[in-house]
Amino acid sequence: MDERMQVAVYSTKPYDRQFLEAANAGHGHGLHFLKPGLDRVTAPLAKGFPAICAFVNDSLDAETLEILAQGGTRFIALRCAGFNQVDLSAAKRLGFQIARVPAYSPHAVAEHALALIMTLNRKTHRAHQRVREGNFSLDGLLGFDLRGKTVGVVGTGKIGAVFAKIMAGLECRVLAYDLYENDAVRKVATYCPLDQVFRDSDIVSLHCPLTPETRYLINRESISQMRRGAMLINTSRGALIETRALIEALKSGELGSVGLDVYEEESELFFEDYSNEIIRDDVFARLLTFPNVLVTGHQAFFTDTAMSRIAATTVENLTAFEKGNDSPNFVPLA
Ligand code: NAD
Repeated sequence: MDERMQVAVYSTKPYDRQFLEAANAGHGHGLHFLKPGLDRVTAPLAKGFPAICAFVNDSLDAETLEILAQGGTRFIALRCAGFNQVDLSAAKRLGFQIARVPAYSPHAVAEHALALIMTLNRKTHRAHQRVREGNFSLDGLLGFDLRGKTVGVVGTGKIGAVFAKIMAGLECRVLAYDLYENDAVRKVATYCPLDQVFRDSDIVSLHCPLTPETRYLINRESISQMRRGAMLINTSRGALIETRALIEALKSGELGSVGLDVYEEESELFFEDYSNEIIRDDVFARLLTFPNVLVTGHQAFFTDTAMSRIAATTVENLTAFEKGNDSPNFVPLA
């Protein structure tokens, strides 16, 4: 009989399997790779598994957690940093332990935010298409020097701090807002109230988590505080932005450009290939029509460094649970 701890790994892509199998070599858990995402329909697949591993768009609502608990699951290893997809009070009531990967590579995400800025500004995505078609016209490709521009960073934790440093390195003036100020960030940025960050920035980049307080942080009113033509970047969580307000601001020209790695209804779309299907989300489809909007499908974390660290920490979290050890990666459920 296989005595290894058996783990149902949801939302598995070939790259997840590659990195998790490599990380598991020294731990020897029994990893069972499942393609479906986790929700109330797929939760019964974990029946008899003491532990499961879930990803960022898996649904861990109360009903899903009930089914997992009935099937004997006790531990949820999230292979992501955020845990806004988990109903924490239901998890506590049902006696789950939950672990996450609080830090793996803040540089991966911060550098992707820079990639969005660079692409939107210098329009390299459009230039690439044009040149391939023999069109060497520069009309519509005008950018601006980043040097000397004001960049606002909302949330200066691990990722926001790296991002602030990168932008300061490009000789931007960096403004920052957080509930708690970070000494390392103070060396490269000036903390100020949120409305001032919105008012004075040419580029606003979001790096705070999704919480009840930050949901729709970017809405009609906050957009109206921003500079006309400002660039907005979101590599954090989709629901920080009220997408309908964003679309109105793009139509009116209040916002000059928008780079998104996340979208509030992304769980219906992201990480899958729908290139042969019709996209039914009209709000998302409208976003894609703007020449000054760049969307990537939640790939900011996706570097080999980050994937190796995510897999290593996830497997360590599974081992900590199996041995009954405590870990700073366990999500407090109090
Ligand atoms: P972190 O916990 O280190 O930092 C978050 C910061 O946000 C903290 O300093 C916190 O005080 C601040 N904050 C909390 N509430 C705030 C509020 N109301 N206003 C302003 N600031 C507030 O987290 P991190 O590792 O820097 O990650 C930030 C976010 O990035 C995560 O929550 C996650 O949603 C997102 N993320 C996205 C990807 C991706 O691939 N796109 C990958 C990893 C993380």
